[in-house]
Amino acid sequence: MTQKLDAALFEARAFNLSPQQIELTQRARTLGQTTFAGRASTYDTEARFPTENYQDLFEAELMGICIPKEQGGLGADFKTYAMVAAEIGRYCGATALSWNMHVASTLWTGQLVDGLDMPESKRLGHNRRRSVHYKRILENKAIYSQPFSEGGAAAAGSKAFSTIAEPITGGWLVNGKKIFASLSGHADYYGVLCTEIKDREKPSRRNTLYLAIPANETGVSVEGEWNPLGMRGTVSRTLIFNNVFIRERELLMPRGFYIEAASKWPHMFFTLSPTYMGLAQAAYDFTVKYLRGEVEGAGTTKRRMYPTKQIAVAQMRVMLEQTKALFYQVISEASANPTKDQILRAYTAQYTVMENANELAQLAIRTCGGQGMLKSLPLERIYRDSRCGSLMLPWTAEICIDRLGKACLYEQGESDEDES
Ligand SMILES: Cc1cc2nc3c(=O)[nH]c(=O)nc-3n(C[C@H](O)[C@H](O)[C@H](O)COP(=O)(O)OP(=O)(O)OC[C@H]3O[C@@H](n4cnc5c(N)ncnc54)[C@H](O)[C@@H]3O)c2cc1C
Repeated sequence: MTQKLDAALFEARAFNLSPQQIELTQRARTLGQTTFAGRASTYDTEARFPTENYQDLFEAELMGICIPKEQGGLGADFKTYAMVAAEIGRYCGATALSWNMHVASTLWTGQLVDGLDMPESKRLGHNRRRSVHYKRILENKAIYSQPFSEGGAAAAGSKAFSTIAEPITGGWLVNGKKIFASLSGHADYYGVLCTEIKDREKPSRRNTLYLAIPANETGVSVEGEWNPLGMRGTVSRTLIFNNVFIRERELLMPRGFYIEAASKWPHMFFTLSPTYMGLAQAAYDFTVKYLRGEVEGAGTTKRRMYPTKQIAVAQMRVMLEQTKALFYQVISEASANPTKDQILRAYTAQYTVMENANELAQLAIRTCGGQGMLKSLPLERIYRDSRCGSLMLPWTAEICIDRLGKACLYEQGESDEDES
């Protein structure tokens, strides 16, 4: 019997989806429901990278989703990507989160850089270089990742990265370490943020470089184990760079433009949210199906007739709709040079999606009861995976709250120091 496809997370008519958005979200939902959902438990149990899912993502052309059309990709924009990623997150959080790292490397070098002012000569050089990366993905099935975190204050945006790129003839020598590097040992290129250091000058965030480091380059190694609470299939181990020679063509953004992008296109850090939007929907979907006696492998007992269950599902629905509406607003308004309100809304949405995804999973477990949280069912994995969202730098739940509180009460340049 063929399985009925789940309803769209963003209903086409209600959310005014374009034909491309309808087609791509359906493509992702079909792949997620018919294929990824069935494999998710194995990747989670074994903390194994979802290699088979990546083969399917290549086949479905979704690995090039944000590569511009004129360079051979599907040319999806930020908003379209976010809705497609949410559909994948619904069925396998680890696949959606790690796929985000790959796609962000094409979105940042594509739509994002295209929206920034840049001298024509720089843009020509960037277009030439990015076509090398895009060809690797489209023709050689290369996978990119985004290891930024180092364990210090750099990933939160407070300090320069400790991973250093020293200019030498034809490129750089890179030295450093990245922790929680999703796709380590599985990506073909690590899109690394590091600090260019010239003539013993002090490390500065202004000199941040975004470089693609080939995984098989001499001096690159992966160490440590990966045995976390959730998102186990991301395989986020530690990467070491020991005197790795990187050629100039591996520059993913022109010099100085990562910092420019971080301040002018701040929604670039919102790309981690869609995975968790999908997990929020998954927790709700599971609960409805479970109470109706329709979850495969959980028997056919119905529990929907109890008023407490109805109230719980109503509360979950309210929280889901609130989360979805805010998420949708933020992905719709993401662009270069947002207003202060738009930035604060993005922090609010990131906080809301990350916290509500776990809150919904927690409510789902309480509502479905003991049999619903057995390891043979997806809910307990959704619960563990969803807990990880608030920890993602640079926009952790805490940092979002910190920035929101300050920005609501202070305008640019204001301080209380002079007041007695
Ligand atoms: C499943 C998973 C996959 C990941 N994949 C990747 C990846 O592919 N690439 C990557 O770069 N990183 C990745 N990360 C790493 C993530 O972004 C964090 O770097 C990681 O969780 C370690 O951070 P920490 O909480 O130990 O950081 P710490 O710096 O020790 O921070 C602890 C907490 O303190 C708060 N904090 C930190 N700095 C500030 C500040 N300046 N102001 C206010 N509060 C602050 C934050 O809320 C933070 O959660 C991943 C993490 C997880 C859980």
